Amino acid sequence: VSAVHAHNLSKQYPGSRGVQALAGVSADIGLERFVSILGPSGCGKSTFLRCVAGLEDVTGGELSVNGKPVQGPPDDIGMVFQRDALLEWRSIRKNILLPVEFAKKQSSAYQEKVDYLLNLTGLSDFGSSYPRELSGGMRQRAAICRALVDDPKLLLMDEPFGALDAFTRDQMNVELQRIWMQTRNTVLFVTHGISEAVFLGDVVMVFSPRPGRLVETIEIDLPRP
Ligand code: ADP
Ligand code: ADP
Repeated sequence: VSAVHAHNLSKQYPGSRGVQALAGVSADIGLERFVSILGPSGCGKSTFLRCVAGLEDVTGGELSVNGKPVQGPPDDIGMVFQRDALLEWRSIRKNILLPVEFAKKQSSAYQEKVDYLLNLTGLSDFGSSYPRELSGGMRQRAAICRALVDDPKLLLMDEPFGALDAFTRDQMNVELQRIWMQTRNTVLFVTHGISEAVFLGDVVMVFSPRPGRLVETIEIDLPRP
């Protein structure tokens, strides 16, 4: 089965001024691929991601994740947004454990997993720190840990480094590539940055706006570290 299968997908936002955000999007995303979703502002990238996450109803076509039609938010998807949404009153470790708590699972069974993720993202010394003590890049690394803690089948990232300065963003891209080499999740990474999309993705899906269409899917075959 594919990680994500879309056939002739469309999305019209409701209301008299509701725009057609997606039209005729068909895609087949294989397991363990890193897919960059690239295009200018307003081309439907976030809408596509939110539909895949079940946070938005599609208005036409078919959409399935891991072979199952998307119906409401599934529990095996990890998400990272531009704003990290870490809870300021919780330590980094307790922030990372949030999805485990939401799923009503025993956090005690996840301590080693948290240690592994902290180590993987270079945050080993910051488990008991609070978000405000971390730099922007470190906060996004903590958000990545949180998204990965419960072994999601899909990792969805919506301009995760968009709020960082260009220098830190470049560092984070290198970090993310290294992390992905270890975890090999299926990733959908939304960006309007061409170099970022090509650097990270082994597939680049290019969208164009008005209405949002998938105009090209490019396989990137660069040697990886
Ligand atoms: P991108 O992520 O590529 O910038 P979006 O998916 O955010 O694009 O938006 C695609 C189109 O849908 C835009 O015209 C945007 O204004 C519109 N849109 C996005 N979210 C909503 C919403 N919740 N309600 C109405 N229109 C929306
Ligand atoms: P990033 O590139 O992840 O945003 P910085 O360049 O700001 O991180 O910081 C580089 C390193 O400096 C971090 O990995 C961390 O070890 C240390 N550091 C940064 N900010 C803090 C802080 N507020 N408290 C302790 N150490 C920090």
